[in-house]
Amino acid sequence: MTVPTVTLNNGVEIPQLGFGVYQIDPADTKDATLAALEVGYRHIDTAEMYGNEKEVGEAVAASGLAREDIFVTSKLNNGFHARDAALKAFDGTLEALGFEYLDLFLIHWPLPKVGDYLETWKAMEEILASGRVKAIGVSNFQQHHLQRLFDEADIVPAVNQIEVHPYLTQDALRAFDAEHGIATEAWSPIAQGKVLDDEAITAIADRLGKSAAQVTLRWHIQRGDIVFPKSVTRSRVEENFALFDFELTDADLTAITALNRDERTGPNPDEFNYIPD
Ligand code: NAD
Repeated sequence: MTVPTVTLNNGVEIPQLGFGVYQIDPADTKDATLAALEVGYRHIDTAEMYGNEKEVGEAVAASGLAREDIFVTSKLNNGFHARDAALKAFDGTLEALGFEYLDLFLIHWPLPKVGDYLETWKAMEEILASGRVKAIGVSNFQQHHLQRLFDEADIVPAVNQIEVHPYLTQDALRAFDAEHGIATEAWSPIAQGKVLDDEAITAIADRLGKSAAQVTLRWHIQRGDIVFPKSVTRSRVEENFALFDFELTDADLTAITALNRDERTGPNPDEFNYIPD
């Protein structure tokens, strides 16, 4: 099964389907990541906040695959919104992963009331210039946060990783990303399972002989977003990877998009100001 790639605005290629490790216990992360790599995933999405960068790095090292054949993303944690703190945090991320370089580094949350994400973004630009990361981007940025970067910084983020699923289709923000050459990554792509009983989705799944998760993930793929569903169950990891031998019709895509109710499973980025201990 060949996973398509998306070309980012600086020419770097990212596999459109990856494996997310949020809420995977560090003790289980090495095995879960190794299983995903065995199944064929070549893109792993972690974060300093998830506490499992080290175990992701161990899995990459133990996989027998070449480092350059695996795309790894990590994210700057919320307590590091200032230049020196951000530079130091990136060093910590590389060290935890045991890597010489990272593929993609994101500001995890804008935290507009806590720090200055513009100063942080300028530190991200320095990290990119150092050659130790192939691309930089943001996560949970709203249109007005991005606009501030366009007005006052040099580099346009390569990606914006935001919550997207059939109950939160984010069409305005996705269009804004696309107009500015920013790839959208959809986190919680199946809304942590909440959309899987929806009758509009199960009807399409039944017709195609696919699961509701596969239909939902395929909807993301055909809309052009990058996804990295999470599971520690091998059969689901395999199921979520088997997305490239069927297609949804335009009517299917429209029916799933029509389920939007602007319902978040996670926090609103304009209000979220949480800093972990
Ligand atoms: P998800 O939508 O991928 O759902 C994961 C849950 O759905 C799993 O715990 C499992 O219980 C269930 N599931 C997975 N596959 C299934 C299947 N085939 N059938 C039935 N149930 C299935 O949610 P997520 O883990 O929150 O998001 C995916 C990834 O996105 C994360 O691991 C992380 O990498 C990223 N993420 C980023 C942010 C951010 O702020 N940037 C926030 C949340 C998640």
